[in-house]
Amino acid sequence: MQHLLTGQDPAFHARLDPENRMPAVSVAGLEKNFGRLKVLKGVDFSATPGSVSSIIGASGSGKSTLLRCMNLLERPDRGLLRIAGEEISFDPTARGGRPRLIESQVARLRRKVAMVFQQFALWPHLTVLGNVIEAPIHVHGVPRHEARDRAMAYLERVGMAEKHGEYPNFLSGGQQQRVGIARALASEPQVLLFDEPTSALDPELVGEVLNVIRDLAEEGRTMILVTHEMSFAREVSSQVAFLHKGQVEEIGSPKDVFEAPGSDRCRQFLSSVM
Ligand code: ADP
Ligand code: MG
Repeated sequence: MQHLLTGQDPAFHARLDPENRMPAVSVAGLEKNFGRLKVLKGVDFSATPGSVSSIIGASGSGKSTLLRCMNLLERPDRGLLRIAGEEISFDPTARGGRPRLIESQVARLRRKVAMVFQQFALWPHLTVLGNVIEAPIHVHGVPRHEARDRAMAYLERVGMAEKHGEYPNFLSGGQQQRVGIARALASEPQVLLFDEPTSALDPELVGEVLNVIRDLAEEGRTMILVTHEMSFAREVSSQVAFLHKGQVEEIGSPKDVFEAPGSDRCRQFLSSVM
């Protein structure tokens, strides 16, 4: 069995930050517009290595956009993004043009982050194993046999090793999402992003996916989770951020945010969903 680096392993955090002082994720003044629509209006947020952050907020508040900016699936218009030691500053140039990105920096940052999507986003033409080894082989240059061993170990962790030869369409939503998580883990990212990982699932399948996420949280991985599962967020999070209209309106411990939110909007949001 391959040795899997986990958050309990000192090497994991040492790799992230030799002195373990820097936040694993730090976002400052992040702005993102889609045409004239201002979606992120100066988001400030940071997460320490090994912490679990939940991002909550109404539909349309910018939660997915924020996560997608963190792995540069969307390109921020302005602000600072620091992920596991890679720092990229986005500032419109003096002439008002788009900031230029250094491709090698983008590639390095992307390698440090992996995302689990609401709709699983598995490749239907690849088997379970094919889905999990794809990025390690083609993006990270891991030799095939090693990628395979690693993939099987991660599939084992999410309880999907037996289905490695199956195609995604023959799996339940819960099984597909567990494969999605194994695929994210197989890149050995330093930060894991989850965008409503259980929202597309039938209620009876939510638990099996939350169990996997809970295990990863207990292992000390740095995770950022957008979720509507409030009791789960409360249970696993080190901190909870409430996003409102593209800004962090409230951030704090789960106890503070859920029991005594300072912001009226946060209180209203919570009473509408809990
Ligand atoms: P949330 O995940 O909190 O529901 P999103 O980040 O998905 O919110 O969306 C925030 C706003 O940005 C919404 O008004 C949405 O319609 C808009 N939006 C998101 N992605 C795009 C896009 N690619 N093009 C245009 N508008 C977008
Ligand atoms: Mg969303």
